[in-house]
Amino acid sequence: MAKVWGVVLWSVHDFYATPDAGSGRMSGNYDVMSEFENEMASRLAQLRREKLHRELRRVRSPQGPRVIADSRSVLNFSSNDYLGLANHPALRDAAAQAAAEWGAGSGASRLICGSLSIHHELEEALAGFKGTEAALTFSTGYATALGTIGALLGKDDVVIIDKLVHASAVDAARLCGAKLRVFAHNDPNDLEKKLKWATSRSRPTPHASRIVVVTESIFSMDGDLAPLREIIELKDKYGAWLMLDEAHATGLFGEKRRGLAEACELAHRIEIQMGTLGKALGAAGGYVCGSCSLIDLLVNRARSFIFSTAPVPAASAAAKAAIHLVQSGEGEILRARLWQNVDHAKNTIINTGWPLPPVRSPIIPLMVGEESKAIQLATAFREQDLFIPAIRYPTVARGAARLRLTVTAAHSPDDIATLGNILHVTQHGTRNA
Ligand code: PMP
Repeated sequence: MAKVWGVVLWSVHDFYATPDAGSGRMSGNYDVMSEFENEMASRLAQLRREKLHRELRRVRSPQGPRVIADSRSVLNFSSNDYLGLANHPALRDAAAQAAAEWGAGSGASRLICGSLSIHHELEEALAGFKGTEAALTFSTGYATALGTIGALLGKDDVVIIDKLVHASAVDAARLCGAKLRVFAHNDPNDLEKKLKWATSRSRPTPHASRIVVVTESIFSMDGDLAPLREIIELKDKYGAWLMLDEAHATGLFGEKRRGLAEACELAHRIEIQMGTLGKALGAAGGYVCGSCSLIDLLVNRARSFIFSTAPVPAASAAAKAAIHLVQSGEGEILRARLWQNVDHAKNTIINTGWPLPPVRSPIIPLMVGEESKAIQLATAFREQDLFIPAIRYPTVARGAARLRLTVTAAHSPDDIATLGNILHVTQHGTRNA
């Protein structure tokens, strides 16, 4: 370590020093930088060789069924803005008003002087929406998973995750120090094996070690649904806790649009309900809903909450407006329109010859397999002004590349017909009859 610092300090000093002709120090400094650049170039070349290199695309318009990407207007079947709220006037106005009232930034972390009324109002709205005692918000869903799993588990505990959970849960499970086990995707039998192992470990007392199962209600890259009832029966049988990520279900499922747990009438049996404010809720941030004691513990122990500046007021105000909107008559109309669009899009896609999974979900994966084939297809679509992203490793397993198509309430029947025509031309070389 001392050696590393030696190099850094020497380099910084040398950078600002007057070059001493003949001393060779500037060239030494140059060598360090060029070695760094060479290493970066070689890592990037490796990514390109593996067809895994990704680039940012500049979008010059607000979210919607059409966006201006790379200076072209493209039909957008790629966003998680499922209800079309990201650019809804109610959210825009709430954000603008909050910026005017509270300023642009929150100034500090929540536990210092950044816990603004708007954050508390959002958390009260969330708890009311989800029907829980309390809620806590984080700056992102990613930070929510990291902070929550880290606060609940330590080295004597066990965390059991579904093989396909989102990277935020994977990273959190790795970082928290608990023993990590992975169960086969949506497979209760395999989950039971892992739970049996976890409970059979020798422990001083049953409470000396906790077991937490982590899964998602709607899987982000496959669009399939977790077998919630079986998972809950199992975690109860083995005395484990469940953390359910409702990122892709909040606002879409259940009579009150709380998520899949509500739709299955199981929410009261889940210890930790998390989600994000950046998908159907159209804003940004993440949340945990649960008991007052859970939230109190997170305020005290979740490091991504404690050591991070509070979310900007505009984002929290927009999320609060979204929660009201989702629960309103308009929210129900948008939800109904989304499901209508999902059914229409699925029928249209099946007619073009793409095989689709039977589940009803706004996330529709067009499975491809090979990374280079997925890129080829995404490029062919983009040439026809259709944007469906190629999803590759590390987001999904190697060799499981796909085009991740998402449908929103904002798509029109014409948008879906255009999608069908382009898919048909790409598959068969002719337009759909
Ligand atoms: N969980 C799931 C299932 C997700 O799909 C995502 C976002 N892709 C997250 C968590 C992270 O949420 P955020 O984007 O708010 O960080």
